[in-house]
Amino acid sequence: MTAIRKLDPVLVNKIAAGEVIERPASVVKELVENALDAGGTRIDVVLEAGGTNLIRVTDNGHGIARDDLPLAVAPHATSKIRSDDDLFNIRSLGFRGEALASIASVSHLRLTSRPEGQLEAYELQLEGEPDRGSPNSQTSDDRSPEPRACAAPIGTTVEIRHLFYNVPARRKFLRQPQTECSHVTEQIARLALAHPQVAFTLSHNGRSLRNLPSTTDRRTRIADFYGAELAECLLDIRREERGLTIDALIAPPAQSKASTKWQYIFLNGRYITDRRLGYAVREAFRGLVEHDRFPVVFIFLTTDPHEFDVNVHPTKIEVRWRDAGLVQSQVLAALRETLLSHDLTPALNFQKSDAPQQSRQTDVDAQQRARQALADYLKRVDPTQARLGFQPPPFPTKNLRPTIAGVMNTPTAGKQTGNNIGKNPVSSFAKEQSPESGLDNGYSDEATVDFKESPNDFPGSQASNLMSQPTSVMQVHNTYLVAQTDNGVIIIDQHALHERILYERFRERILAGPLESQGLLLPEAIEVSSTHAEVAEQHKPLLKTLGIELSPFGPTSLAVQSFPSLLHNVEIKTFVSDLLDKLVESDGESEETLIHAALDMMACKAAVKAGDPLTTEEIYALLEQRHLTDRSSNCPHGRPTTLELTTKDLERQFKRI
Ligand code: ADP
Ligand code: MG
Repeated sequence: MTAIRKLDPVLVNKIAAGEVIERPASVVKELVENALDAGGTRIDVVLEAGGTNLIRVTDNGHGIARDDLPLAVAPHATSKIRSDDDLFNIRSLGFRGEALASIASVSHLRLTSRPEGQLEAYELQLEGEPDRGSPNSQTSDDRSPEPRACAAPIGTTVEIRHLFYNVPARRKFLRQPQTECSHVTEQIARLALAHPQVAFTLSHNGRSLRNLPSTTDRRTRIADFYGAELAECLLDIRREERGLTIDALIAPPAQSKASTKWQYIFLNGRYITDRRLGYAVREAFRGLVEHDRFPVVFIFLTTDPHEFDVNVHPTKIEVRWRDAGLVQSQVLAALRETLLSHDLTPALNFQKSDAPQQSRQTDVDAQQRARQALADYLKRVDPTQARLGFQPPPFPTKNLRPTIAGVMNTPTAGKQTGNNIGKNPVSSFAKEQSPESGLDNGYSDEATVDFKESPNDFPGSQASNLMSQPTSVMQVHNTYLVAQTDNGVIIIDQHALHERILYERFRERILAGPLESQGLLLPEAIEVSSTHAEVAEQHKPLLKTLGIELSPFGPTSLAVQSFPSLLHNVEIKTFVSDLLDKLVESDGESEETLIHAALDMMACKAAVKAGDPLTTEEIYALLEQRHLTDRSSNCPHGRPTTLELTTKDLERQFKRI
């Protein structure tokens, strides 16, 4: 049997170091946190060889008194908390009293400090713990030498050399200096974003990587790390409620990235990761970004330290909230409100397709097609040819909301859409939307289509308010709608926009109760597998909410008894069998997710398709709804519905400015 032994304190420290000190970036984090806790307003970080040879952090904070120097590097010694109570009232970044001791046990550490009012600086040098068995093996008692007087400015410098020199296993895990250096940069970003009022510098192998002057504006700090372009487009959020202050800067959906790395959440000046808050971000942007894209957000939370416990994880990166649900819903509401109150239409991007922000071919294709559509449009509105290819549509002046009556009674409607008329979902949609249908006064003859008119002649040229004045619009390739706005020109993907409009409409309906459904005089039978039949049975209540009723009809078929009346133009069998497929696929997902998926499908199937010719009235119905619909900038899958080409862009492209 193995005897139980008490561990050597040096080994205890090494074990503690294992939890907290993973790589140079973790050392930098701990040292900079100490510098911030000491009230430093300027912090300089110097690295050599990715931090494996040297990490030096210098601050101008309050310093450490001579006699406290040995304590600072002793394990479980801290000036930041005293009692149990303090543990739930933490106002500093550090509190565990372990960092310096842990780092010292796996490196060569030199601590130099001079508090204000002390004439000399003192330094303490620790040589770490040599490998066991080496001839001059020191014991832990040798590791507390006397502080020596030296010259240094007010503040503290901690110098770490030869990290992991005595932990070969850890050293092996270290990457190339360049990679380690980029981890350090990321740590500095997290610390510097949370403390913009502190000036930071970072250098590597004698080369300056960051020089961040003190600022009161978070946006400036963000620009220092991620560029002015991103910083400028961020939307501001400030909300204070029930003791929680949310300050956030979030990028419009079009700026989303391929990873969640661009989501920064800070709590009382500390970078944290939080699953529930991550979920709140995803939820707020649901339907505004595609499923493989992630929004860019910088969220700064401030609350009383009693509201959370940070003593959950040795690196203090996670917290346990007193009321996690409340914080989550407050963050979700703040983000969602901001997104709903902004026009999120992305600008057409003229950068070359190899530019970094256009990493995905689909974006490029979509933009090229849209640009082609625009080119066609501009060709056709050449003043000499304008009236040939394009008859201006009548514009509704009295009753702005186009009605089904308006659509049906317009003499040209039937001709233009051929046998599509009456089946066309936009027409049905217009009917859905308009309780006032039947009024046959929707249109006047005062059609205006004047492409020479300057957009500046329209009032309110700030917003792209298409409907503020009679304006011009046309369908190109039976797929895109091109319209003049106060700002320039927008190009709309008719399917994507209609999909979003229907989705929001369905969502609103379903929040009010089950969707209206219509019994089928002749139930339609569909062939299904036994799994599908089971799923149909299991999700009976959900299907009922959606307005679908199925009943068993033999061992491998189901009969559709009723179907949502909103979907009268949709092929019943295909829809139900696709929906069952979806339900089988999404086994285990929450009801909310399933409803979203189902509404998505409904919207997609019921919406006009690319290639469907639309009547002018239908076009106006769509454009009108665009302004009345939440999140209309993106389809429910997050793809853009609209791209904007501003007059500024045009002037730039035509080299007028
Ligand atoms: P903690 O930060 O959890 O208290 P550390 O091991 O990181 O533990 O630091 C131990 C103590 O050393 C701190 O409580 C603080 O009093 C002192 N200290 C460390 N770094 C600095 C610094 N840069 N300036 C002033 N005091 C420091
Ligand atoms: Mg500390």
